[in-house]
Amino acid sequence: MASTSLTPRKVALRELASARPAVRAALNGDAAAPTPTSQYFGVNTFGARQMRDKLPKKVYQKLQASVRLGKKLDGEIAPAVAQAIKEWAISRGVTHFTHWFQPQTGLTAEKHDAFLSFDDENQPIESFGAAQLIQSEPDASSFPSGGLRATWEARGYTAWNPASPVFIVEGPGTRTLCIPSVFVGYNGEALDEMTPLLRSSDVLSAKAIALLELLGDTGIQRVITTLGAEQEYFLVDRAQFALRPDLVMAGRTLLGAAPPRGQQLEDHYFGGIPERIQACIAEVEHELYKLGVPIVTRHNEVAPCQFEMAPRFTEADLATDHNQLVMAVLRKVALRHGLQAILHEKPFAGINGSGKHCNWSLSIAADNPELDGFNLLKPGKTPHQNVRFLLFLAAALQAVHKHAGLLRAGIGTAGNEHRLGANEAPPAIISAFMGQTLNRMIEDMVSGKTAGQKAEQQLIQLGVAKLPEIEKDNTDRNRTSPFAFTGNKFEFRAVGSSQSIAFPVMLLNAAAAEAIADLTEKLRDELTRTPAVDDAVLNVVRESFKASSAVRFEGNGYSDEWVQQAEGRGLLNLRRTPEALEQLMTEQAKQLFRSTAILTEVELESRYHVRVERYVKDMLIELHTLGQLVDTFVLPAGYAYLNALAKGAADAKAAGIQTVPQLAAAERVGAVVAELDAARATLLAVTEKADHQHGDPSACARLLTSEGADAMAAVRAASDALELLVPDDQWPLPKYREMLFPV
Ligand code: ADP
Ligand code: MG
Repeated sequence: MASTSLTPRKVALRELASARPAVRAALNGDAAAPTPTSQYFGVNTFGARQMRDKLPKKVYQKLQASVRLGKKLDGEIAPAVAQAIKEWAISRGVTHFTHWFQPQTGLTAEKHDAFLSFDDENQPIESFGAAQLIQSEPDASSFPSGGLRATWEARGYTAWNPASPVFIVEGPGTRTLCIPSVFVGYNGEALDEMTPLLRSSDVLSAKAIALLELLGDTGIQRVITTLGAEQEYFLVDRAQFALRPDLVMAGRTLLGAAPPRGQQLEDHYFGGIPERIQACIAEVEHELYKLGVPIVTRHNEVAPCQFEMAPRFTEADLATDHNQLVMAVLRKVALRHGLQAILHEKPFAGINGSGKHCNWSLSIAADNPELDGFNLLKPGKTPHQNVRFLLFLAAALQAVHKHAGLLRAGIGTAGNEHRLGANEAPPAIISAFMGQTLNRMIEDMVSGKTAGQKAEQQLIQLGVAKLPEIEKDNTDRNRTSPFAFTGNKFEFRAVGSSQSIAFPVMLLNAAAAEAIADLTEKLRDELTRTPAVDDAVLNVVRESFKASSAVRFEGNGYSDEWVQQAEGRGLLNLRRTPEALEQLMTEQAKQLFRSTAILTEVELESRYHVRVERYVKDMLIELHTLGQLVDTFVLPAGYAYLNALAKGAADAKAAGIQTVPQLAAAERVGAVVAELDAARATLLAVTEKADHQHGDPSACARLLTSEGADAMAAVRAASDALELLVPDDQWPLPKYREMLFPV
């Protein structure tokens, strides 16, 4: 049988050729009797609809108030809520529950407990009460704590965040109730990603309310941080993925020659979604809808095999939970379709990487219907609304300007480095894009064009009265900016596709809260000189815009000129992760967290340590994987080909053939193999050195980011050259063209 001689790579290709879309029995019912999405949206969550149906009215109202205002669950209603959740869960076939939380791994964690219990007569019953709903005590000692562990003796507890509804995860034959929770130490130390995010939302809300009250707005209950996280990802064939140890181990290809066709034809973006992919994405969405995750957009991204899904925005903590579910469901459902979801920031060199644009804004919750739901970054209809808009816009720019380094730290991971700052990636300078209309207006203010005029005249002359038009301005949006204003929100684009959004959003909230507090003080002061509120605001805003001028940039953020210009402006360009992470430890960062009380100094340090250690571990995994790939895949293929060439040459000579081209080929191949061999030796030496530097993660990180990255690049260059010489059927790893252009 011929097929027994096929290499695994050829078998995978053959399977790929016959792969068909895995169509489930119509997800939304069949065409004759369709089930609209709205009918089953959120069926696996105990959300507002279920609460209203199952809870006594008073309890329901109290719970909703906690949800809306970001409060803890009222102990008085907890038993009734727990009872309703238990009945609902059991009626849906749930057997276990778990507090679902987010340790500092970037992922979620869960430990399941059965509802099964025994009554006084030792009879089996289902039990789940307020105590279990509110709090649980997982053994926390095996999670990364960045040194915090020593101070809290390895014990921690999880507590429900009622703003995020409990939900049911369906597995093969199982259903588990998940209770979205925070994870803290015995003295309340934040051990997770969610606690600091919640604290930052609270602080931001309090500071924003103080500012709004100074402006004369009343009846505001909370200012909500709104967030919409657009998720980019790759879907590749599972069989090919499995044949690539680098993808399996490191989530990205460490080797692979560039195919002649990458993304240069620009034919993938917004192109038709292939059917096999479409079937998978539809099932992902179906699962997410049941979990109440409002995915509303799907499309092809720039790179081949790259896609994006985006939800309707919601409050930041819920958006964070939803994004975790998006990533988990993508990974899970892809497997059912023989596909692998790759969330790494740069799975394939030479083509676009994946990000997670975080759309961020602030929205008012008030009992005053005129203010309720008002987006503070949306230009309004009245001059006063636009004065308020300018104030919050100024605060955001001030925050990004002052804490650009910190925001850079928030997105600093081994993976994101390849999208930002490293070799082929755009620069890692954090700047903000405003769009033409706004930028001109800000420039006019800064240059004093309207200074001294009354607010009314200023607004007219600056064009603030016509501000709603900037939404149309969106068409010329700048895709190269890491932080862009997009009409009614900011879009923080530099966030990595695989990371939890909790940390970068927390940093953004903290920086914004500080800026808002600062502007509040300045306004209070200005009001003593300029009693008319709108006049005073414009004076304060002008100064703020002036001070943050350097961070505004409308040009091409990927150009070399920008790198130089930014340096002249005094902006940071932190190319590598270790130097970016150092920004967490600056006096300015410590001061920020002290003044906002979002993180204690110990908690802040633990974030730094966890991230440096993670960087070191990720890099070491890559170095070891690459070493193994070279030794067990690439070099053997190179040697075998060399031998074959030598034998061919010898045979030809023995047969009396005069011209033996194999000799020249052997020279070429031999040179590349020798180069690879040398690069391998350097790689192994650096790997060993790094392995022995474990005691000093910061020094190790610096070693890995310099010598380590260089050694990997040298190995890759030689290996990729060899890939283009070795006969195709003898190359042991799936090639870029096979993974990226499925037949
Ligand atoms: P764009 O065309 O700018 O991508 P979309 O309306 O498609 O705009 O929004 C992209 C993402 O931004 C979506 O997830 C959306 O829900 C989110 N978004 C829209 N408005 C806001 C807002 N006020 N706050 C936070 N996110 C928002
Ligand atoms: Mg976008």
